[in-house]
Amino acid sequence: MKLDILSIGDELLIGQTLNTNAYWISGQLNKIGFEIRQQLTVSDQEEAIITAVDTALKQVQVVLVTGGLGPTNDDLTMPVLNRYFGGKLVHNEEVYRDIEQLLLPRGYEMNENNRKQALVPDVCKPIRNQHGTAPGLWFERGDQVVVAMPGVPYEMKAMVTDMVIPWLKAKYQLPEIVHRMVYTQGIPEAKLAEMLAEWENALPESIKLAYLPSPGRVKLRLSSMGDNRETLQQAIEEQVERLRSLIGTSIYEAEEGAIAEAVGALLRSKQATLSTAESCTGGYIAHLITAVSGSSDYFKGAIVSYANEVKENELGVVLADLERFGAVSRQVVEQMAKGARERLKTDYAVATSGIAGPLGGTPEKPVGTVWMAVATPTGVVSELKVFGKQRKVNIERAAVTVLGMLRNELMKQ
Ligand code: AMP
Ligand code: MG
Repeated sequence: MKLDILSIGDELLIGQTLNTNAYWISGQLNKIGFEIRQQLTVSDQEEAIITAVDTALKQVQVVLVTGGLGPTNDDLTMPVLNRYFGGKLVHNEEVYRDIEQLLLPRGYEMNENNRKQALVPDVCKPIRNQHGTAPGLWFERGDQVVVAMPGVPYEMKAMVTDMVIPWLKAKYQLPEIVHRMVYTQGIPEAKLAEMLAEWENALPESIKLAYLPSPGRVKLRLSSMGDNRETLQQAIEEQVERLRSLIGTSIYEAEEGAIAEAVGALLRSKQATLSTAESCTGGYIAHLITAVSGSSDYFKGAIVSYANEVKENELGVVLADLERFGAVSRQVVEQMAKGARERLKTDYAVATSGIAGPLGGTPEKPVGTVWMAVATPTGVVSELKVFGKQRKVNIERAAVTVLGMLRNELMKQ
């Protein structure tokens, strides 16, 4: 069952408004079994709207339209769809009452524009709007449906959840769709694809695989569609087990996909505590850790030691080592991790020291050079990486990488 999403609005095309409607609708409608064929954005122009709807209806069963339903002259969606479906605009008493009930308690009088909003095409079923004045419009032609909804996200969302989804479920027999995320860390996408090539080629036809990379991590999505949810889930879990046998230690379990969740679960199970000593990440690791609910069980605190004197005074880094090896060095980052572990009295500590950029690089230590360390009850491990040129990405990579190192240590001990 295929569906197109048509977003209407000049503001979307000049980069003024982010098209969150298409993103949100895609998620909701895919969940109930629709294949989203296309998201299309067009301007508030009759020609553009007609062409888009007409073209979509040659390919899909359902078109969900948002935007352009307001009472003003720049909003064309309603009259245009009315003409397209050959209807005429008639007063709808129910819609009129809805608008009245929304406006009167707020102290507004009904004006001409509001009366105009109660004019609804006689060839559609109006969709009542609990949160705004413009009703949605449900047009049917044979087994096809075109739904127009307001652009305001919370008005649209309520309509989709309360009316559009139940009505679509009643009209169409929808398949089950299962997506299973597998989160991996520490293996770059190209390398991962190479390691998994044989497994991937042997995947059954019915299971689709996608690689979704972000700094330091790759998400694998396994998707399948069919009649029986349990059967689909079972087939996918069999494949996940095979994956585990290939790249087991790189896979981490996390509901939201954050590696800090997986690290947190390990710390909790060991009843161990954590602190951070952060130079180039500036507290970002602490932020990632504390973004996980319940992190107070294991996280004690952070020392953001940006200046050398803070590394020296608060973490006990030896001044001579700072001068001899530089702040971005194995010696210093290891001392930072040990210092945080001792001073904040935790079982584990992670530390970072690097050149996030874009300034500060040298030929020996270019931008992106980051030393990372993990202090454990039995010692300290450290690693050097040279990431890229972009400051934000370097900070994120350093944070994710050192959390991955911590995870490895936690799994060993
Ligand atoms: P409209 O229904 O076209 O009058 O849109 C009303 C408001 O909804 C606009 O001013 C935008 O802020 C917002 N809006 C419209 N389309 C979208 C969209 N696709 N995603 C997010 N917001 C939108
Ligand atoms: Mg608009």
